Amino acid sequence: MPFYEYRCNECGETFEKMLRFSEAGQLPVCPTCASQNTQKKLSKVVSFGAAASGSTSSGSSCAPRGGFS
Ligand SMILES: [Zn+2]
Repeated sequence: MPFYEYRCNECGETFEKMLRFSEAGQLPVCPTCASQNTQKKLSKVVSFGAAASGSTSSGSSCAPRGGFS
């Protein structure tokens, strides 16, 4: 079950919320100011998969040192 990150447009608070499928189309209420003026941020969910695949390939991109002897 995915976590989504939201930002409150009223007070600027960012918070995470785990949504069920029945709640996927709804915006959550800000836990700080109880406003419904919130928007979803996709950065965290997207970067999680990108970072996992990127870190494995970038590790071997540098030329090996100590090969000449
Ligand atoms: Zn708020």
